[in-house]
Amino acid sequence: TNTILLASRPQGEPTAAQFQFEIREVPAPKAGEVLLKTRYVSVDPYMRGRMSAAKSYVAPFEVGQPIAGGVVAEVVESQAESLPVGSIVVGNLPWQEYSVAPAASLNHVPADQAPISYFLGLLGMPGLTAYFGLLDICQPKPGETVVVSGAAGAVGMVVGQLAKIKGARVIGTAGSDEKVAYLKQLGFDEAINYKTADVAQALAAAAPNGVDCYFDNVGGVITDAVYDLLNKHARIALCGQISTYNNTEAPVGPRPEGKLLKTSTRLQGFIVSDYLPQWPAGVKQLTEWYGQGKLQFEETITEGFEQIPAAFLGLFKGDNTGKAIVKVA
Ligand code: NDP
Repeated sequence: TNTILLASRPQGEPTAAQFQFEIREVPAPKAGEVLLKTRYVSVDPYMRGRMSAAKSYVAPFEVGQPIAGGVVAEVVESQAESLPVGSIVVGNLPWQEYSVAPAASLNHVPADQAPISYFLGLLGMPGLTAYFGLLDICQPKPGETVVVSGAAGAVGMVVGQLAKIKGARVIGTAGSDEKVAYLKQLGFDEAINYKTADVAQALAAAAPNGVDCYFDNVGGVITDAVYDLLNKHARIALCGQISTYNNTEAPVGPRPEGKLLKTSTRLQGFIVSDYLPQWPAGVKQLTEWYGQGKLQFEETITEGFEQIPAAFLGLFKGDNTGKAIVKVA
């Protein structure tokens, strides 16, 4: 089967040279295992971290080994009673057109509830990241002001909508006028194109009452600007720092500690897997809101297995609105 391996570790911005295509043998499934045909592959910013050797919360990918991540697949051969042929599953699987995995490592996808690719987005890891980060860490109250950076991405667009459900005023930042228009259409009260606006000025104008909650997906200068607007007892969910992932040196910037101190701000970093035991409850609630029409979702779907590296690299250029997905079959 077609496989994508990590060819080398990137220095700075990754390129197509980091990915190598190879044909690999897929073994027949043993007892308790299934043979899977890959339908949708998720490309995610955190994978940039796994391409580096540095220690993090998930082990690095190995050079010469398949890259792996969130995949929605169909069971085409089964040695496991729990997953008959035709079942749709989601799991952490290699970037391969076909793969074998233990049934116990996969989650069944209820294909009648939403498009199956949503289990890599709204009803999967990114949706849960938004759900726990906003509702557990930020805890927005009606009338409060919430800022979310990376707002037109998979996590950000869910954060903004959840904040609206909680009655907050929502401001998003994103990297194009099309994305800004899209966020307004989604119900964001204000949206700022950080590539063309004076971010500090635009944020101050959009948040005349200051900022109570900040859901940080990007870090860097956008975050510096938000820290100047924090209200007393503000809450910050530190989710991602995509603006720094390709840095080769530690970023240097204003020291925000004094601003956090003076405002009694609570800043908390988190990893969505911190909430693993609560994932089923989160998916249930997100599915319910989606079913009631309270949550919308958007995907940027690239077609073709060979396009996976390009779709991944596009994350760092802002090619995607909503979840970046590759449709394989
Ligand atoms: P997105 O769908 O948001 O895709 C990435 C987006 O980031 C791009 O579309 C682009 O949008 C924006 N971006 C890229 N480079 C920069 C930059 N230099 N400055 C500002 N924005 C940039 O990805 P996700 O929703 O999956 O992830 C969002 C963030 O959440 C990431 O930082 C990710 O690492 C983090 N994350 C954290 C998790 C956790 O457990 N803590 C779990 C999942 C995600 P634009 O056009 O606006 O620039």
